[in-house]
Amino acid sequence: MSVSHSADKLPTELIDSFGRRVDYIRLSVTDRCDFRCVYCMTEDMTFLPRDQVLSLEEIYLVAQAFTELGVNKIRLTGGEPLVRNNVMSLIDRLGKLEGLKELLLTTNGAQLDKFAKPLHAAGVNRINISIDSLDAERFQRISRVGKLEKVLAGIDAARAQGFDRLRLNAVIMKGYNDDEVLVLTEYALEKEVDISFIEEMPLGNASDHDRESTVCSNDWVRGVLEEHYELIASAETTAGPSRYYQVAGKRSRIGFISPVSHNFCADCNRVRVTVEGRLLLCLGNEHSVDLRAILREQKGDLDALKRAIVASMDLKPERHFFYDKEHVQPVRLMNMTGG
Ligand code: SAM
Ligand code: SF4
Repeated sequence: MSVSHSADKLPTELIDSFGRRVDYIRLSVTDRCDFRCVYCMTEDMTFLPRDQVLSLEEIYLVAQAFTELGVNKIRLTGGEPLVRNNVMSLIDRLGKLEGLKELLLTTNGAQLDKFAKPLHAAGVNRINISIDSLDAERFQRISRVGKLEKVLAGIDAARAQGFDRLRLNAVIMKGYNDDEVLVLTEYALEKEVDISFIEEMPLGNASDHDRESTVCSNDWVRGVLEEHYELIASAETTAGPSRYYQVAGKRSRIGFISPVSHNFCADCNRVRVTVEGRLLLCLGNEHSVDLRAILREQKGDLDALKRAIVASMDLKPERHFFYDKEHVQPVRLMNMTGG
């Protein structure tokens, strides 16, 4: 599709009304998934009708608009990005986008044995792979349908490709997998990949449990690890709710993504675009802009899209308030949000 540019001066950086620079976007390429993780989805999900979902071309235009506005890091997510039909044709194009320094992917790993090689060839720099248990039965209980051995094979396939970094993501929940903090960490150390522990966020209603009774603070997880390892705080930050530690004598880093117990919103550098083309300014709030309407009503006008993105910066909230009864909690489930 050809795109037009008007003479209006557009900025080369996105700065919000709190002075934060947005240089990172998370793009959801589908709301669908081959798993049904208990913290992310309900058991019987209804997914979006096709006409409400952005086409691969529309997703590419969104990415292009953001990179022309100074975004240099894109993470592809979902739902499960690798279940989207023909997703490699999009990733191949994104890998060639001018101005993009990092192209990242978050996946459940179930199809990585097949995709690791083309993803690496397309220029994907880093991959996050979610894995919440190393016990096959329990893995299936948490993912409701996933097969652990497929994910383990996917991790090995990705390791064989030489990505800049691989990271495991584990959501630790009381009563589900809180006794696996050490086992998961030992596995990451052995495979020389990073691991991050994520606090369960109250995004939509979980149908199998009451989130407030399962949410596990990362301070507790870190305490468990500190009884066994010397954790050395890393100066590196990703301008988000993550903090990293090096394990003395090991290559792997351990991260704690603590959006619930710690508020790092002051450094926030990111926004999300759902697969419906809704630009979400904050994970924990509903402020959003409908980019799909602009894409479809003003077809081919990349500057209209860029102007809407620039204007959206005024809507980015200062912070979120998870599990705070004084504040409205998001009704979106994580697969709709784009993790
Ligand atoms: N399907 C891919 C995967 O599972 O990695 C990508 C999308 S998933 C929504 C992205 C990340 O969000 C995963 O690491 C998952 O564990 C995490 N996640 C999903 N729901 C969550 C919740 N309610 N709280 C915290 N993390 C959640
Ligand atoms: Fe699917 Fe990822 Fe959500 Fe699990 S966390 S249901 S793998 S989108």
